[in-house]
Amino acid sequence: MAKQARVGRPPGSKTNEYRFIEEVPAACRVCGSTKLTVIDGYAPMITEGGGVRPDGREFVRVERRPKICECGQRYVVMAFIPPARS
Ligand SMILES: [Zn+2]
Repeated sequence: MAKQARVGRPPGSKTNEYRFIEEVPAACRVCGSTKLTVIDGYAPMITEGGGVRPDGREFVRVERRPKICECGQRYVVMAFIPPARS
């Protein structure tokens, strides 16, 4: 069911700007580092379907993937994918 979708420019489009992808958490809650590294070997869990963040920003898809911090703390980071600007 999970359709793999690439983040970024679809092939063939020129300047398809994507707005800021918000990741939650964006930084480690233990040490504050923003250097969270994707843990290999896990397919991202993609939830199709959009909504609006509490701050009003729209998103069209949520991707969850496990990441690990420099300090060893692990997170499932949610990435809110904004709609492509048209
Ligand atoms: Zn950390």
